[in-house]
Amino acid sequence: MKLKIETKHKSEMIDITKTVTEAVIKKGIKSGLVTVFVPHTTASIILFENIDPQLRRDFLEALGRIAPASQTYHHQGENAAAHIKSALCGARVVVPMENAKLQLGEWQGIFLCEFDGPRERTVIVQVING
Ligand code: ZN
Repeated sequence: MKLKIETKHKSEMIDITKTVTEAVIKKGIKSGLVTVFVPHTTASIILFENIDPQLRRDFLEALGRIAPASQTYHHQGENAAAHIKSALCGARVVVPMENAKLQLGEWQGIFLCEFDGPRERTVIVQVING
């Protein structure tokens, strides 16, 4: 199934755990391996700490130190830094689901990372039954 998510900033992290869980349950699926994937090269899907929003700022700033926007890049577009961040963070996670509950740790959430927003992003969720 495909989810559409509007991002609002150039760079941000959006907790999509609830959206993903609801989408899976709506399909009548209660257990299996849930894969969450973005078909984009300037966005990512990661697991991240889900309580402290300041930690999201810290993470985005840390990525900004690895691939600063101000750097000169060979890429023709203006979004080389976003491509690099996206490649480092990855495009998917896989999370087991049991009894209609994602088996995430207490502090884990599924996050869509935007590195070149704002724009509409597609998130593909699929379940391998088991
Ligand atoms: Zn580009």
